[in-house]
Amino acid sequence: MQDDSDLGRRLEAAVLARRDDLIELTGDLIRIPTLNPPGENYREICDFLDRRLLKSGFDTRLIRAKDTPGDSEKFPRWNIVARREGTRPGECVHFNSHIDVVDVGKGWTTDPFGGALIDGRIYGRGACDMKGGLAASIIAAEAFLEVCHDFAGALEISGTGDEESGGFGGVAYLAEQGYFDPKRVQHVIIPEPLNKDRICLGHRGVWWAEIETHGEIAHGSMPFLGDCAVRHMGAVVREMEDTLFPALARKRTDMPVVPEGAKQSTLNINSIHGGQSEGAADFTGLPSPCVPDSCRMVIDRRFLIEEDIDEVQAEIRAILETVREGRANFSYDMREMHRVLPTMTEKSAPIVRTVAKAIEDTMGLEAEYVVSPGTYDQKHIDRIGRLKNCIAYGPGILDLAHKPDEYVGVDDMIQSAQVMGRSLISLLVQGDGAAANGE
Ligand SMILES: [Zn+2]
Repeated sequence: MQDDSDLGRRLEAAVLARRDDLIELTGDLIRIPTLNPPGENYREICDFLDRRLLKSGFDTRLIRAKDTPGDSEKFPRWNIVARREGTRPGECVHFNSHIDVVDVGKGWTTDPFGGALIDGRIYGRGACDMKGGLAASIIAAEAFLEVCHDFAGALEISGTGDEESGGFGGVAYLAEQGYFDPKRVQHVIIPEPLNKDRICLGHRGVWWAEIETHGEIAHGSMPFLGDCAVRHMGAVVREMEDTLFPALARKRTDMPVVPEGAKQSTLNINSIHGGQSEGAADFTGLPSPCVPDSCRMVIDRRFLIEEDIDEVQAEIRAILETVREGRANFSYDMREMHRVLPTMTEKSAPIVRTVAKAIEDTMGLEAEYVVSPGTYDQKHIDRIGRLKNCIAYGPGILDLAHKPDEYVGVDDMIQSAQVMGRSLISLLVQGDGAAANGE
């Protein structure tokens, strides 16, 4: 195996030689503000990636997710898929990164779209989530192509929109078009910021619902003539505090979810709105005295692979029924808003074993296996694409995502690009994925 490890070392050197290029590329990506919502500059960043990947010998395709949520002439949902064929038939390895970033928010001490390099870190919105990962995968692919002229199968890189808002105009759309059909693509790595030595196998499930309690409007000076919907909702919250939250805390999962607090079922109350809406900021008058006849609560329930979504819903309904039995005039509606089932790739899957070995060969570290508390685009690759052999692996610290002064470390990007490149050698030159598949 002397030749193979030589190849790995040459790959590592080729990545290292691209350090300046990696820094420039990451900065260039950050300097294209792709805020979502509303979905700005998707075309600009796709054109930028198009020029770069064409130069590296990829065939590229720009794909607009027409009529998906948010798609408009002003904010068209553009995506890019680039493919480089090998010299002989074989499997396809695909790197998928989202190109959108979330709102900047307050508290920055650096320019959020400056991409400044300070003490070995690149700063900006999207630095770790996930333009650093996108840049690392491009550098890994280019270094691989320099070192390995003869490889089987194909190598793909995609840049997709809307991950931060559900991925419907991005990976979900591409999956519907067959881009993640297991006949076309066999291995997927999503370079989300999970740390350079961690492999993310999947994520917990999500169930969003709106609960409404009903009342009766009356004059606020005589509330006994009406029925206060906010007080009814208060009873719901109290029942949740007394029975639901303790019950959720007792449900533990065998999924290796990080951080520790997410190793159980959780529920967030996203919002409660009851009675009159607040006046506009420039309205200086007083509200009128009315008993609220409606109160709405939006809940965000995160559930475990051991839980069934029907049970998750039944549990909330049971809370509402308990309140109804004990409370006069209580009535409610419940409406599902959004659902994502949990997903978790087996540790024995070829992509997991390949990347774990590459982490060990590159850094001398044993890979840590994790599951994400929140979802990401793996859900669409799994549910729509029906492709199970998918992980998230990339540089950066998850806790920095969406925060002020977000950054990604250059050394971390280098090492994870080396891991990605070594994984390409395993899968496209040595055929380890097919061997692991038993084919
Ligand atoms: Zn992300």
